[in-house]
Amino acid sequence: MRTTALMTGAVLAVSLAATSAYAQGGFGPQEMTRYQVKENIYTIRNAGAGNVIMLVGEEGVVLIDDKFPQDHDAIMKLVREVTDAPVLYVINTHMHPDHVGGNPAMKDIGAAIVSSENARRIMAERGTPGLANIAMRDYLRIYLDEMPIDLYYFGRGHTDGDIVIHLPTERIVITGDLFALYGPYRAVIDYSAGGSLRDWPRTLERVLQLDFDLVIPGHSGPTDRANIEGYIDYLTRTAQMVREMNAQNRSREDIQKMLESEFNWGRLEMMVGLDGVISEMR
Ligand SMILES: [Zn+2]
Repeated sequence: MRTTALMTGAVLAVSLAATSAYAQGGFGPQEMTRYQVKENIYTIRNAGAGNVIMLVGEEGVVLIDDKFPQDHDAIMKLVREVTDAPVLYVINTHMHPDHVGGNPAMKDIGAAIVSSENARRIMAERGTPGLANIAMRDYLRIYLDEMPIDLYYFGRGHTDGDIVIHLPTERIVITGDLFALYGPYRAVIDYSAGGSLRDWPRTLERVLQLDFDLVIPGHSGPTDRANIEGYIDYLTRTAQMVREMNAQNRSREDIQKMLESEFNWGRLEMMVGLDGVISEMR
């Protein structure tokens, strides 16, 4: 069990870095680059890993996600160009290695790690280093100076441990890989980590009930509410199509071809999601 989970994690890490689909579209520039979103809010992006979001206050810095271990120094260089304040918290949107790989190094510089209880449990089962110091089930509010940072667990989707971060005073929502763009819509459903295509649209409907204008996805630059609505439609159509083909007793190969041609599924999506989606949609 543990070996399988470890292997899946390793395969996923390699795939995330190497799959050509992931090297384009939503991935950022080759060089680690900082973008300003608002006065005290930045994203830090590069070509190989999920977005880091940086919230800067007087008393400290809150980061959302921390990429792979080897990205730590480049991330901190860009943080230190903006502020000398300590990194107080690193919030993990979910447990994938391109989002939490920097946890041990962040703990070493004194940051507390925050994740969902489910993400922490999966990381513990797999022996992933840098487990959360603070774990939440459904809701947690962190204050950075006077700015509230609301963390929500809304249900299964990409994994069963995805947190959505809402900045109510800024009207911004940060979705991790519950909503991530890599060019055309794709769906990485990590069934080994509790992902679910059936639940995913409902989970995102709950995100839409928050008050926001700007969306910062797990991969790609900022976008808007309508883009999430489009993605919910994509996920719903994907689920319906697999369900229909199951009902017609169509083969695994037929379903694979359909997902490739109609829904842009690539190597990674197939590896972590194909068998799971066929059995979930029976
Ligand atoms: Zn992910």
